[in-house]
Amino acid sequence: MVAHPSRLHPAGEAQQLLRFLIGFARATRRARRDVVRYAGSVDKEAALNWPRLRRWIVDLVRPTAPRPLPPVAGNNVRSVEDTLRHSPYEIGAAYNRMGQEVTRKEGVVARVVFNRDELDAIHGGTLTHNHPTPPGYRDGGSFSLADVLLAVQENLAELRAVSATYRYSMRPSGRAWPRRSSVRNSFERIEEAVTQSLRAQVQQGTLTAPEADVERYHQVWQQAAAELKLTYVREVD
Ligand SMILES: [Zn+2]
Repeated sequence: MVAHPSRLHPAGEAQQLLRFLIGFARATRRARRDVVRYAGSVDKEAALNWPRLRRWIVDLVRPTAPRPLPPVAGNNVRSVEDTLRHSPYEIGAAYNRMGQEVTRKEGVVARVVFNRDELDAIHGGTLTHNHPTPPGYRDGGSFSLADVLLAVQENLAELRAVSATYRYSMRPSGRAWPRRSSVRNSFERIEEAVTQSLRAQVQQGTLTAPEADVERYHQVWQQAAAELKLTYVREVD
C-alpha cells in the first residue's frame, strides 16, 4: 500500500525512504545470491557485475515481460529449429527483441554454456535450443529446471526448445516471470509427485521407462506453469 504523497508528513516520508532502502538492500542481496547460485550452469564469468545488477534492478522496478517475436521473426526461429532438431549435441540460438540472431553456440553433449557477453546479448530476447535424443530414447524431452531459471534470470520474451518430435515454448502469461525461488520450489515439489506417478505406471507396465523419462519434465511443467502463471506449450511437430 502506498500513501498519497500530499498526506505524508516528513517523518512518514523518512520512514518510507528507510523501508525502501532496506527492501532494496535485501533485493540486491537476493539477486547476488541468485546469480552466484546459477553460475555453475552459466560459467564463472557470469558472477555479479554492475551492468548485470543494473539490468536486474530495471527488471525489478518495471516488472513487465518483453513482447514475443512478431510472426515473421517467429517463423524464422522455427526454421532454424528445424536445422538444429536432429543435431547429436546441443546448440543454442538467441534472438533480440527485433528477431535478429545475436548468438549461436554449440554445447558439449547436452549443455550449452553462455558467457557474460552472450547473456547480455540474450537478455530480454528469445532463446531456442535443441534437446538431443539420448541413446535408447525416442525424444529429448522438455525444459530442464536450469533452462527456465535462465529464462527468468534474463527476463526472456520466450524460452524455446526443439526435440526430435516436439517444440516447446515457455513465456510469462502475466506481467513478468515469477521469482526464481518460486520456480525452483514448484518444480521440485511437482517433480517428486510426477516421478512417483510415472514410476507406478512403469511398474504396472502401461509405460516403458524411457517413455516415462520423456514425459516427466513435460508433465512437471504443465502443472508448474499453471501454478506460476506461465504459458507453456508442447506442440507435436
Ligand atoms: Zn534445455
